[in-house]
Amino acid sequence: MQNKLLFERSVAGSNSFRLPPSDVPEEVSLPTEMLRPDNPPLPDLPENEAVRHFTRLSKRAYGVDDGFYPLGSCTMKYNPKINEWAARLPGFAELHPLQPEATVQGALELMYNLERALCEVTGMDRFTLQPAAGAQGELTGAMIIAAYHAKRGDTRRTKMIVPDSAHGTNPATANMAGFDVIEVKSNERGLVDVPSLRAAMSEEVAGIMLTNPNTLGLFEEEIAEIAAIVHAGGGLLYYDGANLNGILGVARPGDMGFDIVHLNLHKTFSTPHGGGGPGSGVVGVKDHLAPFLPSPLVAKNDEGYYFDYDRPDSIGKMLAFHGNFSVLVRAYTYLLALGAEGLREVSENAVLNANYLRMKLRDHYHIPFDRLCKHEFIATPGRLKEEYGVTTLDIAKRLLDYGYHPPTIYFPLIVPEALLIEPTETESRQRLDDFAAAMIKIASEAIADARLLKEAPHNMPVQRVDEVGAARKPILRYQANA
Ligand SMILES: *Cc1c(COP(=O)(O)O)cnc(C)c1O
Repeated sequence: MQNKLLFERSVAGSNSFRLPPSDVPEEVSLPTEMLRPDNPPLPDLPENEAVRHFTRLSKRAYGVDDGFYPLGSCTMKYNPKINEWAARLPGFAELHPLQPEATVQGALELMYNLERALCEVTGMDRFTLQPAAGAQGELTGAMIIAAYHAKRGDTRRTKMIVPDSAHGTNPATANMAGFDVIEVKSNERGLVDVPSLRAAMSEEVAGIMLTNPNTLGLFEEEIAEIAAIVHAGGGLLYYDGANLNGILGVARPGDMGFDIVHLNLHKTFSTPHGGGGPGSGVVGVKDHLAPFLPSPLVAKNDEGYYFDYDRPDSIGKMLAFHGNFSVLVRAYTYLLALGAEGLREVSENAVLNANYLRMKLRDHYHIPFDRLCKHEFIATPGRLKEEYGVTTLDIAKRLLDYGYHPPTIYFPLIVPEALLIEPTETESRQRLDDFAAAMIKIASEAIADARLLKEAPHNMPVQRVDEVGAARKPILRYQANA
């Protein structure tokens, strides 16, 4: 009974809902074959049972408000509740996107100021707030790169360089924007191999998509040389800034030589995420690319703020209306609450926490790049796998028994059996110590009784699930007769 779906719990005759009589004319012009012969089989359940059902489900979910969530690359930091208060203010929450500009001056001012603040944080000149996710920001950026070369009449540039450590969305979006992807290998230090990059550069290369610090949590120390090589070859540099926690307030992509950057406001700038949205993948550019940004941008004149649609070289619209506005409100609140010094502290503490954990775990796990990292680092089972057959998946599942959301696993792809651990700045030393203790306990369990890990989780409502099956043959809706 506990595991049943709402539809399966239905008890006919519970009489849980009554629809009011229709007060609109019945539409008779629809073809009869399109009409339902019977009423839809909606579940019928007393209100208290329906409430209990959803409350029970909600308790099975795990979020940053439940506990530690070190999901590398995803920046699952605690989101201050004042952001929620601001996003819920009726003057923001109840706006209609087609309202006349004169009636939404506050919202436009927020967008205008947020754009200025993001420029300051990244060293860019203009931002679009439209894209609804990091991946859509990347697509926006890749399309801007294409538009830039097309405008100059340079039609040879059909290739995009992407390092092998990149997030999967990078090659996917480059491809979607019409580019062929050239993969550049990382060197033994986990950084872009500069000689390989130099060799890959040609008149056919439109640009490079780079994450820095990269997905191994390592700063690309040769970024100035990388930028010089790509620019000298006529290409542009795209910065995947989904996760800015490692350098916020310390270093800026614009100063490193990047022409375009996307940020995930829902990661670095504090919006709850992980359930599929809403997100915001804002995109910033240097002046020479500003004409290509999606339309409209928010501008200001003597009469106030307005949407500027007069952008003849724009790549167009990336989204209906103006982006996920509530995420913009949260990001703006977060920026104002922290200020410049607070932002710098965010990354200092994110980096400190990551290195603290790395040092605590290095005697128990293999740390492939065991040197100063930024906001995240990689661990692998090392000898726990070689000698006891314990995999990264086993460790992740066992962590569930200890009440933790596991780190990102099997990503980045270039490190076999990777655990990508990102503690974020919002965790206390006590919490990091507790997590390290659980990880160390698991390592000792692996040695003493690997079966305990192989059969984990032991305390969860569901045990191991068929993840491949769930992805390949998803059941996306209830089928009454299945
Ligand atoms: C999360 C992430 C993305 C994709 O962002 P979405 O909002 O999930 O589309 C891209 N690159 C990196 C490095 C990321 O961590």
